[in-house]
Amino acid sequence: MTDCIFCKIVDGQEAASVVYEDEEFIAFMDAFPLTEGHCLVIPKAHHVRLDEINAKKRAKLFSIGHKVIKAQKKAELGVQGTNLLINDGKAANQTVPHLHLHLIPRASGDLIKSIPRILLHISGLFGFKTSRATLDSQAEKITDHL
Ligand code: AMP
Ligand code: ZN
Repeated sequence: MTDCIFCKIVDGQEAASVVYEDEEFIAFMDAFPLTEGHCLVIPKAHHVRLDEINAKKRAKLFSIGHKVIKAQKKAELGVQGTNLLINDGKAANQTVPHLHLHLIPRASGDLIKSIPRILLHISGLFGFKTSRATLDSQAEKITDHL
């Protein structure tokens, strides 16, 4: 889909710090992370909602997500837990209409710090962009443990 930011990432028209890629899926660093190391896993084909892909692909989406979570934990980013999140539809605050699984690293007591970012995300403004150099370096650390 030509005006979809995630399709542009898949096509290489938009920059991304990629942590994982195969024929069907790609995982990359969220450019406006809620916490350090925040990744997204997406199908390469343009689908908006979770029920637009079949059960096999849904299972693969979560399986890749689980692999990336294990690598995030090993990547010395201070990860103690993870929020797995799919905002499935506009009513659920989906702002990018291309299906994506959020993998949001968490550490005890980090919620207060993240509240402004969460509010900006819900509004679709996203807020604080992390530099490409930082995202690339985090992606490299995660990829090293995949
Ligand atoms: P959602 O609100 O669930 O649709 O999440 C969309 C996510 O995409 C947000 O976490 C944004 O920070 C992230 N995002 C938007 N544009 C980009 C981009 N160009 N590269 C990486 N992540 C992005
Ligand atoms: Zn798309």
